[in-house]
Amino acid sequence: MAWGTIVKSKHDWAVEPNLANYEQARRTFSWEDARRELDGLPGGGGINIAHETVDRHINSPLRDHLAIRWLGKNGEVWDYTYGQLRDLTNRFANALQDLRVNKGDRVYVLAGRIPELYIIALGTLKHRSVFCPLFSAFGPEPIRTRLTIGRAKVLVTTQSLYERKVKSLRASLPFLEHIVLIGDDHGFTNVPDTIDYRRLIENTSNSYTIQPTDPEDMALLHFTSGTTGAPKGAMHVHGAVVAHHITAKLALDFHRDDIFWCTADPGWVTGTSYGIIAPLTSGITSIIDEGDFDAERWYGILQSQKITIWYSAPTAIRMLMKAGSDVVRKYDLRSLRFLSSVGEPLNPEAVVWSKEAFGLPFHDNWWQTETGGIMIANFAAMNIRPGSMGRPLPGIDAAIVRMTGDGSVEEIREPDVQGELALRPGWPSMFRAYWDEPERYKKCFAGGFYLTGDLAKRDQDGYFWFIGRKDDVIKTSGHLIGPFEVESILMEHKAVAESGVIGKPDPVALEIVKAFVVLREGYKPSEDLRRALLAFARTRLGAVVAPKEIEFVTSVPRTRSGKIMRRLLKARELGLPEGDISTLEAD
Ligand code: AMP
Repeated sequence: MAWGTIVKSKHDWAVEPNLANYEQARRTFSWEDARRELDGLPGGGGINIAHETVDRHINSPLRDHLAIRWLGKNGEVWDYTYGQLRDLTNRFANALQDLRVNKGDRVYVLAGRIPELYIIALGTLKHRSVFCPLFSAFGPEPIRTRLTIGRAKVLVTTQSLYERKVKSLRASLPFLEHIVLIGDDHGFTNVPDTIDYRRLIENTSNSYTIQPTDPEDMALLHFTSGTTGAPKGAMHVHGAVVAHHITAKLALDFHRDDIFWCTADPGWVTGTSYGIIAPLTSGITSIIDEGDFDAERWYGILQSQKITIWYSAPTAIRMLMKAGSDVVRKYDLRSLRFLSSVGEPLNPEAVVWSKEAFGLPFHDNWWQTETGGIMIANFAAMNIRPGSMGRPLPGIDAAIVRMTGDGSVEEIREPDVQGELALRPGWPSMFRAYWDEPERYKKCFAGGFYLTGDLAKRDQDGYFWFIGRKDDVIKTSGHLIGPFEVESILMEHKAVAESGVIGKPDPVALEIVKAFVVLREGYKPSEDLRRALLAFARTRLGAVVAPKEIEFVTSVPRTRSGKIMRRLLKARELGLPEGDISTLEAD
């Protein structure tokens, strides 16, 4: 079915879009100009994310402006002005100093969307140690792996997450010097061998001077998954804030009076770049909801908080579609003026539905952990082709490429031809390394391009269309899951000889994690064993990573070199002839 084009005109704007003339903006854009929209540290001390998000607003009327409104899952509403954020983040920076944490040391946070997380993130950046968020739905194994790879010095978590997921790991984390605990009711804690968060920050000063920070100083460590091997720690620098700021201005159309809601969890890159950093550099108000997805709760928030810009994800939008348009009509959502989506393909149906339900279409945009910020987008002033990710941002060169026989990279210039999506490096939020894995990092580049691992095509008007992943990573409810991490844990169960893990298509979550399992001698497939394996994986990996389905098989197909042929498993799952996997993603 052809979805046509959603045509935009001046009558659609509540405010003049920041990017009104795409071609002109591409011609005139420079990263130096973008840098000048921020302040830099006083006295030429470089650039620090926490200065740009918080401190630079303190000598302006923004000091008393609402920076963050936190909505607790039990109905609490806590407000933080820019001035209050400055004091609290100063306190945490001083606390790190007291703990003898050094510049560049990794400070991890494992927590849900609680206000302390935002203070810790920004305090860590002030102190110039490295902020590393972990998704709170991870089980002990993904937590252990990521703490170990990045050699965490400090872990801040809540008392209940500590007791459920971290305590049992402590002996295997000798490098971890401090565990700081936040009370589950935000109160005091008293747990042996841990530090209480409240006492820690209450005993520190609320004044702090950010030390000179080089734009290339490491700031953020975000884990992402590949097909093989352990998760990869993508490293981002303080200078990335220039891209966070300008991409939000152009692709999310931030204006000074906006009230913005990013529904992403800060355990993932969207929740940091656009859930923490970009709204604050822009001096706007950011709403943070601790609660889980619930259609009525979400519409209630849009209405009561008078959200103007809403940044969400396809899985959530599909769940809203399922709840139906009648629910939407119960709410007054007239404050909304711009809707945006990221993380997975946004089906054209969802774009068309949102136009009907809200009077506004969702604007899809594309980026990934490694790019640190939005690269391709449907801008406010642009006609939307439902199903397309949009066009590259000013300052971003995107191309479709293919590998030639001799291993070099060739750009495909003809329209509508499938290839790998590639970007010319050079924007400030480009990742600088995979932590401790120079070879893996090097492999991402060829012929002057960064190779994204996504397959896409570009139409004759320069709109990019997502086709699929080049590799076997799984996207489930917006989260990238590495099959290897799941296979490895399943293999630790005494009944399992081998396993192969794929993403099984799902109408809401895009994919669900499905495992094919070969049993050891002496074990027979049974419903009880299947349930036991599901529970085992869930306990070790956490709900987001663990398989939702397990199927017993007698063998897992492998290549001659021993690699699991996940694509063949997927062909079987999809009912395609085993010899014909041409409709699956290409190599
Ligand atoms: P992550 O690094 O976890 O943010 O995941 C990045 C990956 O998510 C990309 O490489 C794509 O495969 C997928 N992705 C992100 N945004 C989109 C989008 N708008 N359309 C299709 N896939 C997307």
